[in-house]
Amino acid sequence: MRLGSVEAGGTKFVVGIGDDCGNIIKRESFPTTDPITTANKVIDFFLSENVDAIGVGSFGPIDLDLNSKTYGYITTTPKQGWDYFDLIGHLKEKINVPIGFDTDVNTAVLGELTFGSAVGLDSALYLTIGTGVGGGAIVEGKLLHGLLHPEMGHMKLIVRPDDSYKGKCPFHNSCFEGLASGPAIEERWGIKGKDIPADHPAWDLEAYYIAQAVANYILVLSPKKIILGGGVMHQKQLFPIIHKYVLEFLNGYIQKEEITEDKIKEYIVYPQLGDNAGLVGGLALAKQQIK
Ligand code: ADP
Ligand code: ZN
Repeated sequence: MRLGSVEAGGTKFVVGIGDDCGNIIKRESFPTTDPITTANKVIDFFLSENVDAIGVGSFGPIDLDLNSKTYGYITTTPKQGWDYFDLIGHLKEKINVPIGFDTDVNTAVLGELTFGSAVGLDSALYLTIGTGVGGGAIVEGKLLHGLLHPEMGHMKLIVRPDDSYKGKCPFHNSCFEGLASGPAIEERWGIKGKDIPADHPAWDLEAYYIAQAVANYILVLSPKKIILGGGVMHQKQLFPIIHKYVLEFLNGYIQKEEITEDKIKEYIVYPQLGDNAGLVGGLALAKQQIK
């Protein structure tokens, strides 16, 4: 089986070809410009490749309701020119294979559950902490959509008393994304995240916010594995601090082995597929279209 994958991001698009075991054979990427030009590049890539199906994981918000007139659209995005763009409709005009569509983070959690750190489980949560913050979840073996799709990055958090930063989100200021995204780190400290030393207090604060959100998701979704990806999570020193704070915030309330000092490092993990979680997840999404 030859499968196609598209990681549709607000900054760049990644397209790839792979097999049904999650191996990427070929990949290309290009910057996200206006929607027609960008979608046409995706079409050009796939017209020269034979694939049986394609999976598209996209930035959002997007319409995933198969009964909706705007299914397959990127909907209310502030990204200029992209609001109410019929991404999947545009691709389907030229590409004649089944195309699956989901959020970038749902696609990434599907990738990790099918080929990565959550293989064999029927539930998992994937969070990306990057330019934005978002979460995708599989619950009882199915990708979680609901009314729209989860927007986990916009959960309001309690600001730590020593943090005077007002937050970066134009809608909520001090939501998870507003406090902990890459741009929030950069604005708060006046340095790019990747240039902040590993022992800087920025990382304790960052871990505090991530752990606060994670503790809430554990209480709401009860995931069997939590995977933290995105550019900011390249700072691996965050993991032990996140583990410590999650244990502290839950304070022994959830009596499961996974949430103990010994085991939590296997429960809250970096993506096994690394930065490929989304692209590989697109292959899994494509495979689902054939079944
Ligand atoms: P995107 O979210 O745009 O798809 P990324 O997941 O790579 O892309 O996230 C980009 C954000 O992560 C930027 O704000 C960047 O400053 C931050 N970032 C990237 N690499 C690192 C790093 N090594 N340490 C801390 N922050 C990083
Ligand atoms: Zn917000």
